Amino acid sequence: MKLVRYGDMGSEKPGLIDGSGVLRDLSGHIDDVTGAVLDAASLDRLRAIDPASLPEVGGNPRYGACVGNIGKFMCIGLNYTDHAEETGNPIPAHPVLFMKANSAISGPNDDIVMPRGSETTDWEVELGVVIGKAAKYVSAEDALDHVAGYCVCNDVSERTFQNKLSGNWTKGKSCDTFGPTGPWLVTKDEVPDVQELGMWLDVNGKRMQTGNTKTMIFTVAEIVSHLSQLFTLHPGDVISTGTPPGVGMGMKPPHYLKAGDVVTLEIEGLGLQTQKVVADA
Ligand code: ZN
Repeated sequence: MKLVRYGDMGSEKPGLIDGSGVLRDLSGHIDDVTGAVLDAASLDRLRAIDPASLPEVGGNPRYGACVGNIGKFMCIGLNYTDHAEETGNPIPAHPVLFMKANSAISGPNDDIVMPRGSETTDWEVELGVVIGKAAKYVSAEDALDHVAGYCVCNDVSERTFQNKLSGNWTKGKSCDTFGPTGPWLVTKDEVPDVQELGMWLDVNGKRMQTGNTKTMIFTVAEIVSHLSQLFTLHPGDVISTGTPPGVGMGMKPPHYLKAGDVVTLEIEGLGLQTQKVVADA
Protein backbone atom coordinates (compact mmCIF):
# COMPACT_ATOMS: atom_id res chain seq x y z
CA MET A 1 0.00 0.00 0.00
CA LYS A 2 1.02 3.54 -0.69
CA LEU A 3 -0.42 5.73 2.06
CA VAL A 4 -0.41 9.49 1.70
CA ARG A 5 -1.60 12.65 3.38
CA TYR A 6 -2.97 15.35 1.12
CA GLY A 7 -4.35 18.84 1.44
CA ASP A 8 -3.32 22.09 3.02
CA MET A 9 -0.57 22.13 5.61
CA GLY A 10 -1.97 21.32 9.03
CA SER A 11 -5.26 19.92 7.73
CA GLU A 12 -4.08 16.99 5.62
CA LYS A 13 -6.45 14.11 4.97
CA PRO A 14 -5.46 10.46 4.69
CA GLY A 15 -5.42 8.79 1.31
CA LEU A 16 -3.93 6.01 -0.69
CA ILE A 17 -2.58 5.65 -4.18
CA ASP A 18 -4.37 2.81 -5.97
CA GLY A 19 -2.84 0.37 -8.44
CA SER A 20 -3.47 2.79 -11.31
CA GLY A 21 -1.78 5.68 -9.54
CA VAL A 22 -5.05 7.39 -8.63
CA LEU A 23 -5.28 9.23 -5.31
CA ARG A 24 -8.23 8.04 -3.23
CA ASP A 25 -9.60 9.40 0.02
CA LEU A 26 -9.30 7.25 3.13
CA SER A 27 -10.96 9.64 5.56
CA GLY A 28 -14.06 7.42 5.77
CA HIS A 29 -11.86 4.80 7.42
CA ILE A 30 -9.14 6.61 9.38
CA ASP A 31 -8.69 10.17 10.63
CA ASP A 32 -5.05 10.46 9.60
CA VAL A 33 -1.97 8.42 8.73
CA THR A 34 -0.23 8.37 12.10
CA GLY A 35 1.46 5.85 14.34
CA ALA A 36 -1.96 4.90 15.68
CA VAL A 37 -2.85 3.13 12.41
CA LEU A 38 0.51 1.65 11.47
CA ASP A 39 0.42 -1.59 13.45
CA ALA A 40 0.09 -4.77 11.38
CA ALA A 41 -3.60 -5.35 12.21
CA SER A 42 -4.61 -1.80 11.26
CA LEU A 43 -2.64 -2.00 8.02
CA ASP A 44 -4.30 -5.32 7.23
CA ARG A 45 -7.71 -3.71 7.73
CA LEU A 46 -6.80 -0.93 5.31
CA ARG A 47 -5.40 -3.43 2.85
CA ALA A 48 -8.72 -5.30 2.87
CA ILE A 49 -10.57 -2.22 1.56
CA ASP A 50 -11.34 -2.31 -2.16
CA PRO A 51 -9.65 0.87 -3.43
CA ALA A 52 -12.41 1.24 -6.03
CA SER A 53 -14.84 1.82 -3.14
CA LEU A 54 -12.91 4.92 -2.03
CA PRO A 55 -13.69 8.36 -3.47
CA GLU A 56 -11.23 9.59 -6.09
CA VAL A 57 -9.56 12.86 -5.19
CA GLY A 58 -9.64 15.26 -8.12
CA GLY A 59 -7.40 18.17 -8.93
CA ASN A 60 -3.79 18.27 -7.99
CA PRO A 61 -3.66 18.57 -4.23
CA ARG A 62 -0.55 19.24 -2.20
CA TYR A 63 0.97 16.25 -0.45
CA GLY A 64 1.90 16.56 3.20
CA ALA A 65 4.53 14.50 4.98
CA CYS A 66 3.35 10.91 4.56
CA VAL A 67 3.19 10.38 8.35
CA GLY A 68 1.35 12.77 10.64
CA ASN A 69 2.26 13.54 14.26
CA ILE A 70 5.75 12.10 13.92
CA GLY A 71 7.00 11.57 17.46
CA LYS A 72 10.75 11.48 16.90
CA PHE A 73 12.55 12.33 13.68
CA MET A 74 15.93 10.62 13.98
CA CYS A 75 18.74 10.76 11.47
CA ILE A 76 21.73 8.52 10.98
CA GLY A 77 24.93 10.27 9.85
CA LEU A 78 27.80 8.93 7.75
CA ASN A 79 26.02 5.67 6.93
CA TYR A 80 27.48 5.20 3.45
CA THR A 81 31.18 4.48 3.19
CA ASP A 82 31.81 6.79 0.24
CA HIS A 83 29.82 9.66 1.83
CA ALA A 84 31.81 9.37 5.07
CA GLU A 85 34.95 9.65 2.93
CA GLU A 86 33.75 12.74 1.03
CA THR A 87 33.12 14.53 4.34
CA GLY A 88 36.58 13.60 5.62
CA ASN A 89 35.13 11.63 8.55
CA PRO A 90 36.24 8.13 9.61
CA ILE A 91 33.89 5.17 9.11
CA PRO A 92 31.85 5.08 12.34
CA ALA A 93 32.03 2.05 14.63
CA HIS A 94 28.38 2.49 15.66
CA PRO A 95 25.50 4.32 13.95
CA VAL A 96 25.90 8.11 14.30
CA LEU A 97 22.60 9.53 15.60
CA PHE A 98 21.29 13.05 15.58
CA MET A 99 17.79 14.49 15.82
CA LYS A 100 15.93 16.73 13.43
CA ALA A 101 13.38 18.98 15.15
CA ASN A 102 9.83 17.91 14.27
CA SER A 103 9.07 21.48 13.25
CA ALA A 104 11.33 20.93 10.22
CA ILE A 105 9.03 18.27 8.74
CA SER A 106 7.39 19.31 5.51
CA GLY A 107 5.65 17.89 2.47
CA PRO A 108 7.63 16.23 -0.31
CA ASN A 109 7.09 19.06 -2.77
CA ASP A 110 6.97 22.04 -0.41
CA ASP A 111 9.54 24.79 -0.90
CA ILE A 112 12.87 24.53 0.90
CA VAL A 113 13.17 27.84 2.73
CA MET A 114 16.82 28.75 3.32
CA PRO A 115 17.15 30.44 6.70
CA ARG A 116 18.06 34.11 6.74
CA GLY A 117 21.57 34.70 5.46
CA SER A 118 22.21 31.05 4.59
CA GLU A 119 24.95 30.45 2.04
CA THR A 120 25.54 26.75 2.76
CA THR A 121 22.22 24.95 2.43
CA ASP A 122 22.79 21.42 1.16
CA TRP A 123 20.82 18.33 0.07
CA GLU A 124 20.79 14.66 1.17
CA VAL A 125 18.55 11.99 -0.39
CA GLU A 126 17.79 9.35 2.24
CA LEU A 127 15.69 6.30 2.90
CA GLY A 128 13.16 6.96 5.68
CA VAL A 129 12.07 4.11 7.93
CA VAL A 130 8.65 4.42 9.60
CA ILE A 131 8.12 2.52 12.84
CA GLY A 132 4.82 0.59 13.10
CA LYS A 133 5.20 -1.23 16.41
CA ALA A 134 7.01 -0.13 19.56
CA ALA A 135 10.57 -1.41 19.70
CA LYS A 136 12.73 -1.77 22.78
CA TYR A 137 15.74 -4.09 23.06
CA VAL A 138 14.96 -5.79 19.75
CA SER A 139 17.52 -7.87 17.90
CA ALA A 140 18.51 -7.07 14.34
CA GLU A 141 16.88 -10.35 13.39
CA ASP A 142 13.49 -9.17 14.70
CA ALA A 143 13.89 -5.46 13.95
CA LEU A 144 11.94 -5.32 10.69
CA ASP A 145 8.87 -6.70 12.50
CA HIS A 146 8.70 -3.23 14.05
CA VAL A 147 8.81 -1.36 10.74
CA ALA A 148 5.58 -0.31 8.98
CA GLY A 149 7.18 0.90 5.79
CA TYR A 150 9.50 3.26 4.00
CA CYS A 151 9.55 6.67 2.40
CA VAL A 152 11.84 9.22 0.77
CA CYS A 153 13.41 11.92 2.96
CA ASN A 154 15.52 14.91 2.02
CA ASP A 155 17.76 15.58 5.03
CA VAL A 156 18.26 19.23 4.10
CA SER A 157 21.25 20.65 5.97
CA GLU A 158 22.67 24.09 6.68
CA ARG A 159 26.38 23.28 6.89
CA THR A 160 27.48 26.43 8.72
CA PHE A 161 24.80 25.91 11.36
CA GLN A 162 25.75 22.21 11.49
CA ASN A 163 29.50 22.57 11.83
CA LYS A 164 30.40 26.12 12.86
CA LEU A 165 27.91 27.22 15.54
CA SER A 166 29.50 25.52 18.55
CA GLY A 167 26.68 23.03 18.82
CA ASN A 168 25.89 19.62 17.43
CA TRP A 169 24.52 18.69 14.02
CA THR A 170 20.92 19.25 15.14
CA LYS A 171 21.42 23.00 14.69
CA GLY A 172 21.99 22.63 10.97
CA LYS A 173 19.39 19.95 10.39
CA SER A 174 16.33 21.47 12.04
CA CYS A 175 15.55 24.66 10.12
CA ASP A 176 11.89 25.01 9.11
CA THR A 177 11.16 23.04 5.90
CA PHE A 178 14.37 20.96 6.19
CA GLY A 179 12.45 17.69 6.45
CA PRO A 180 10.58 16.88 3.22
CA THR A 181 9.05 13.42 3.86
CA GLY A 182 7.05 11.38 1.33
CA PRO A 183 5.19 11.45 -1.02
CA TRP A 184 4.18 7.90 -0.05
CA LEU A 185 4.54 5.70 2.97
CA VAL A 186 5.08 2.42 1.15
CA THR A 187 4.26 -0.50 3.40
CA LYS A 188 7.11 -2.94 3.74
CA ASP A 189 5.27 -5.79 1.98
CA GLU A 190 5.76 -3.78 -1.24
CA VAL A 191 9.52 -3.42 -0.71
CA PRO A 192 11.08 -6.81 -1.47
CA ASP A 193 14.58 -5.89 -0.27
CA VAL A 194 15.13 -2.60 1.54
CA GLN A 195 18.89 -3.08 1.17
CA GLU A 196 18.63 -3.02 -2.63
CA LEU A 197 17.02 0.30 -3.54
CA GLY A 198 18.50 2.70 -6.05
CA MET A 199 18.36 6.41 -5.20
CA TRP A 200 19.31 9.69 -6.86
CA LEU A 201 19.09 13.46 -6.45
CA ASP A 202 19.29 16.21 -9.08
CA VAL A 203 19.74 19.96 -8.68
CA ASN A 204 18.33 21.89 -11.66
CA GLY A 205 18.31 18.64 -13.65
CA LYS A 206 21.96 17.87 -13.00
CA ARG A 207 22.67 14.56 -11.27
CA MET A 208 24.38 15.15 -7.93
CA GLN A 209 23.78 11.95 -5.97
CA THR A 210 23.52 8.37 -7.15
CA GLY A 211 23.42 5.59 -4.60
CA ASN A 212 21.93 2.33 -3.47
CA THR A 213 20.91 1.21 -0.02
CA LYS A 214 23.10 -1.86 -0.51
CA THR A 215 26.15 0.27 0.37
CA MET A 216 24.87 1.29 3.79
CA ILE A 217 27.38 0.68 6.58
CA PHE A 218 24.60 -0.21 9.05
CA THR A 219 21.50 -1.89 7.61
CA VAL A 220 17.98 -0.79 8.46
CA ALA A 221 17.64 -3.80 10.77
CA GLU A 222 20.90 -2.99 12.54
CA ILE A 223 19.91 0.66 12.99
CA VAL A 224 16.47 -0.16 14.43
CA SER A 225 18.02 -2.73 16.76
CA HIS A 226 20.78 -0.36 17.89
CA LEU A 227 18.45 2.58 18.61
CA SER A 228 16.04 0.29 20.45
CA GLN A 229 18.80 -0.55 22.94
CA LEU A 230 18.99 3.18 23.78
CA PHE A 231 15.32 4.21 23.96
CA THR A 232 11.88 3.06 22.83
CA LEU A 233 10.99 3.57 19.20
CA HIS A 234 7.29 4.37 18.96
CA PRO A 235 4.80 3.87 16.14
CA GLY A 236 5.00 6.87 13.85
CA ASP A 237 8.64 7.62 14.61
CA VAL A 238 10.80 8.11 11.51
CA ILE A 239 14.47 7.28 11.03
CA SER A 240 16.28 8.85 8.09
CA THR A 241 19.10 6.43 7.40
CA GLY A 242 21.91 8.48 5.91
CA THR A 243 22.89 9.70 2.49
CA PRO A 244 25.07 8.37 -0.34
CA PRO A 245 27.87 10.54 -1.77
CA GLY A 246 27.35 13.65 -3.85
CA VAL A 247 26.37 16.30 -1.30
CA GLY A 248 27.35 19.89 -2.03
CA MET A 249 29.71 20.06 0.95
CA GLY A 250 31.80 17.23 -0.53
CA MET A 251 32.37 18.93 -3.90
CA LYS A 252 35.56 20.73 -4.81
CA PRO A 253 34.82 23.58 -4.55
CA PRO A 254 31.70 23.09 -2.40
CA HIS A 255 28.43 23.77 -4.20
CA TYR A 256 25.38 24.90 -2.25
CA LEU A 257 21.75 25.69 -3.00
CA LYS A 258 20.58 29.14 -3.98
CA ALA A 259 17.15 30.69 -4.34
CA GLY A 260 15.43 29.48 -7.50
CA ASP A 261 17.14 26.09 -7.59
CA VAL A 262 14.98 23.01 -8.04
CA VAL A 263 15.85 19.80 -6.18
CA THR A 264 14.45 16.48 -7.42
CA LEU A 265 15.02 13.17 -5.67
CA GLU A 266 13.72 9.64 -5.87
CA ILE A 267 14.16 6.22 -4.32
CA GLU A 268 13.19 3.19 -6.35
CA GLY A 269 9.56 2.28 -5.61
CA LEU A 270 9.12 5.00 -2.98
CA GLY A 271 8.26 7.98 -5.18
CA LEU A 272 9.66 11.32 -6.24
CA GLN A 273 10.07 14.66 -4.46
CA THR A 274 10.52 18.07 -6.09
CA GLN A 275 11.38 21.18 -4.07
CA LYS A 276 11.93 24.75 -5.10
CA VAL A 277 14.50 26.63 -3.04
CA VAL A 278 13.54 30.05 -1.72
CA ALA A 279 15.29 32.51 0.58
CA ASP A 280 13.61 33.45 3.86
CA ALA A 281 12.50 37.04 4.08
ZN1 ZN B 1 21.60 12.95 6.46
